[in-house]
Amino acid sequence: MSPSIVRVALPVPLPQVFDYTAENISIGDLGRCVRVPFGRGEKTGLIVALPEVADLPVERLKPVIAIQRDAPALPVDWLGMVEFAARYYQHPLGEVVAMALPPRLRKADAVAGAEADPLLDLTDSGREALLASKRESRALALLRELAARGPRRRSLLKAGEGAAPAMADALKRGWIAPGVAADPAAMAGAPTLTGEQEAALEILSGGFGSFQPFLLAGVTGSGKTEVYLRLVQQTIARGGQALILVPEIALTPQLEGRVAGRFPAARVVSLHSALAEGARSQGFVQAMEGRADIVLGTRLSVFTPLPRLGLIVVDEEHDASYKQHEGVRYNARDLAIWRARQRGVPIVLGSATPSLESWHAADTGRYRRVELASRAVAATLPKVRPVDIRREKLQNGVSEHLLRAIAARLERGEQSLVFLNRRGYAPVLSCPSCGWVSRCPHCTANMVLHLADKRLRCHHCSHEAGIPLACPDCGDQDIQPFGRGTQRLEETLGQRFPDARVLRVDRDAARTRSQWDALLDQIGRGDADILVGTQMMAKGHDFPRLTFVGVLNADSSLFAADFRAPERLFQQLMQVGGRAGRGELPGEVMIQTQYPDHPLYKCLEAHDFARYAALQLAERKQARFPPYAANALLFATAPEVAIAIDWLKEARAIAAPLAQAFGVQVFDPVPMRMVRLARRERAQLLVEAAARPALQAFLTEWSRHLWGLRPPRELRWHLDVDPAEV
Ligand code: ADP
Ligand code: ZN
Ligand code: ZN
Repeated sequence: MSPSIVRVALPVPLPQVFDYTAENISIGDLGRCVRVPFGRGEKTGLIVALPEVADLPVERLKPVIAIQRDAPALPVDWLGMVEFAARYYQHPLGEVVAMALPPRLRKADAVAGAEADPLLDLTDSGREALLASKRESRALALLRELAARGPRRRSLLKAGEGAAPAMADALKRGWIAPGVAADPAAMAGAPTLTGEQEAALEILSGGFGSFQPFLLAGVTGSGKTEVYLRLVQQTIARGGQALILVPEIALTPQLEGRVAGRFPAARVVSLHSALAEGARSQGFVQAMEGRADIVLGTRLSVFTPLPRLGLIVVDEEHDASYKQHEGVRYNARDLAIWRARQRGVPIVLGSATPSLESWHAADTGRYRRVELASRAVAATLPKVRPVDIRREKLQNGVSEHLLRAIAARLERGEQSLVFLNRRGYAPVLSCPSCGWVSRCPHCTANMVLHLADKRLRCHHCSHEAGIPLACPDCGDQDIQPFGRGTQRLEETLGQRFPDARVLRVDRDAARTRSQWDALLDQIGRGDADILVGTQMMAKGHDFPRLTFVGVLNADSSLFAADFRAPERLFQQLMQVGGRAGRGELPGEVMIQTQYPDHPLYKCLEAHDFARYAALQLAERKQARFPPYAANALLFATAPEVAIAIDWLKEARAIAAPLAQAFGVQVFDPVPMRMVRLARRERAQLLVEAAARPALQAFLTEWSRHLWGLRPPRELRWHLDVDPAEV
């Protein structure tokens, strides 16, 4: 018998797949990893097709080295998804596969049979021990918990300080043992839903069994997560798997705890890029073999194979981190929608401040909108008001209104947060005599003054330098920090409120996961009175004693060049405002501004997302911005911007006849606003179409030509489809 042909996607920056020959191939080998000779070496790729006819004459094909048959093959629908992603985002398939597969699977090492995570339950002797107990111990506490809340997964039981030895001890003494199969859909400790939640749930659960996109628009604290959890429960009860996407790694442990606690007998797999290789591969295989009931993770987990997929939830669907900004520039929310359609399952996009794309889709009936208008527990939404700073003398950037509001909180023993989205002491150091400013030598950006560790630091390329004692240009010793960052604000507030505990929460204060957790703990315990925070503080955390949020420097985003900047500002302010008054105490938000009558602030004041969305959408329609148009950007970087521009001009010349044929518009190449980044100079070219299909058709043709161009040696280029910024 003659050998068969296998078509392999390899992780190389080339837009094609590669054919090889292999013996004893069956249809079951589709989706398996394979080692093949490539160039002078070897590579591992994925078998993506078993074609009858090869691209080359068969005698010129090389034979594969080995097919990895110990691990299960990736299913056909998964191949369909990565192929779609490669096509849509104009990226080599092999690189998409390499990104989507956990490293172990990719390396074609056998994936260790995923370790069992049995459900542990009290035994009779465990119950006796509990009754007979005299001295308190960790093991007893564990038994008590099992008695109260029912069986738990081993992984969950041994989480937490000191719990692992206690569990081992209880196992050894026979007090606990793997229990009988329990119902994975069983819920523990679920609150009674509010009427509004019930109504939403009824609509959403009507979507099971077919593709139905929902937009769950619910104000912060309205209990969206509670609604997701009920849907997950129904999904599992129907024999399905639920995929829950969250925007950030920092938010996964929190939600994981909530999900795992709610479904003690379900198998919950958590997936994100910060996981150890082994854990990621294991979780992936558990999901692929249908053993996981719930998969929870960041954008990458949209690529998890799920044979029994029954529901997709995208939490905080507006969040910018669903879009990947390097390599394969995909948007996980958009891929999730494609996938829900492919698999014929409902998808719920949830947010307090939906993206204008999703809001528009709901306006036009493509998505079904479901709203939660009031908070589940706290009685009211925080009171929001702009503070007009045109008429007020500021003290180091902070208005008297704000200071008084903080003072009032201090008296009542409540917490305040002052939000300033700018790290460091001051954004720049400058010389009053000659105008020298602390520029980064490698970027079109200023170096930020970090007084805490006495450095100047570029926030774009991380270049660092010492703080000069005098102006490097003219020698003036009176060089000054200009403007304000979180460190300076911390100093100002500390001086004004010497008895208050001021705590700064930004990326410099929380460099590591454990520092971040320690800060959150400290705030939660009430060991801080005034918080100074950046966007890190905006999302997802509940602090019951936090009742006041003051916002500085919001105006800078009002008139930014990027058309999405106001949308992001609105979302951010709504989110950060949502931190105030989450508990029993009412909240208040003050926004310092020179434009108190700006519609953005007016809508915030009224908590009227719908009105703001309508205003923004009207502007976008007029300007032909998404969602009223589809965009792509072609980027080029080189040591000098002229090289990048020249190449983009060449690309544009090729595009001209195609653009006409497909009805798209190709703009002139322009240097990027921040032209220099980390010693390279950057330029871009915008492509605009009335809708995605036309854009896709054009890009497919055009990129074929682009791959054929021979760029100058030092030039790099890439396409960004549906870019986050234009
Ligand atoms: P969201 O996801 O919309 O921000 P959550 O689901 O996190 O809201 O709910 C906010 C808070 O209200 C949480 O502490 C949650 O436990 C609580 N909560 C939600 N729904 C209910 C309910 N029906 N009864 C009591 N508490 C609820
Ligand atoms: Zn000078
Ligand atoms: Zn730099």
